[in-house]
Amino acid sequence: MLTERIKELSSEHFAAIADIRHKIHRHPELGDEEYATAKLIAEVLASLGIETRTGVAGTGVVGLIPGRGPGRTVLLRADMDALPIQEEVDVAFKSTVPGRMHACGHDGHVAGLLGAAMVLNELRDTFDGNVKLVFQPAEETDGGAARMIQEGVLEDPKVDAAFGCHLWGQLAEGKVQLCPGPMMASPTAFWFKIFAKGGHGAYPHLTADPILLAAQAITFFQSIPSRRINPLEPVVVTVSAIHGGEATNVIPEVVEGKGTIRTFNEALRDVIPMEMENILKGITGAQGATYSFESRKSYPPVINDPRMTGVARDAFAKVVGADNVDASGAPSMGAEDFGYFGKWVPSAFVFVGIGRDGVPMAHHQPHFQWEDKNLLVLTRGLAQIAVDFLAG
Ligand SMILES: [Zn+2]
Ligand SMILES: [Zn+2]
Repeated sequence: MLTERIKELSSEHFAAIADIRHKIHRHPELGDEEYATAKLIAEVLASLGIETRTGVAGTGVVGLIPGRGPGRTVLLRADMDALPIQEEVDVAFKSTVPGRMHACGHDGHVAGLLGAAMVLNELRDTFDGNVKLVFQPAEETDGGAARMIQEGVLEDPKVDAAFGCHLWGQLAEGKVQLCPGPMMASPTAFWFKIFAKGGHGAYPHLTADPILLAAQAITFFQSIPSRRINPLEPVVVTVSAIHGGEATNVIPEVVEGKGTIRTFNEALRDVIPMEMENILKGITGAQGATYSFESRKSYPPVINDPRMTGVARDAFAKVVGADNVDASGAPSMGAEDFGYFGKWVPSAFVFVGIGRDGVPMAHHQPHFQWEDKNLLVLTRGLAQIAVDFLAG
């Protein structure tokens, strides 16, 4: 019954929802610079008569839709930021800002959540409790979710559960995927330098060659996932940059590198950097060289609460059909600052497919593109989750 109403209302609002996506897509803004995006969100919420707070954690926006009576509060979250990428897709709503692009789908997250706001606003007298709409800055950069939580987004009214969706290129259109427990990994960034005696390229025996030492260290880092950590624990150690030397005949004095560690296990976030440092220590020590090593933990892993996973699974099953919902979907080693919400309240995160013709669509690249019709899945799924959670 209610699902039919959600479907009808979202179809009625579809043109407006797609228009919002196009507007945001044309004017992508990087993390913590989402001024025009936030202004647009606030205007849409105001036009719906939804009580709105702006300027939360900088550019964040929070809307509140109270139902007919007292009850629990469900938080629905969208991220707003774009990426420093030059768009190379020819669409009518192509980015007008050089070097900026919505290449992760956050334009759709905002539009989809505003669509859910339009729908839920008309269904106010069908549910008790509140729907809190959270539009957060800086998912791609420094974790705007954490700052919004610090600024009280989980209070007043107190939030009982949080849900978020990500448009997902590795999943086909019309399909939805999630899983209970670990869903997305935690990233830890690292930086290292190797300092060693340099010299003439023709006389390597008079040097300690930091390039050779770096090559050994990088190779040896891969023995951490394969030999130091239980193979049943998913772990990634990626060295993503390496710099040293300039000339063909000069062995440099310094080589520096950096990269990312991914794991679902909080304890391993301390163990892996320690293992890396041990490798650097051993390899450089053997050659009379020295090193520096630094690591910094970023977002926590996204851990889906089993009950909330059930709420999201059942809600999406109503929207796209149970056959199209995979509730034991493979976790991803990607990261998401939605994990911060899950540290405080039971939560679930959902992947909504946008891949076309069986071809996965890679995120964070200049050809990233998806069809407007997927906005309907987002809007309907979020609205259905809210009414189902508040009813349950
Ligand atoms: Zn992204
Ligand atoms: Zn993203």
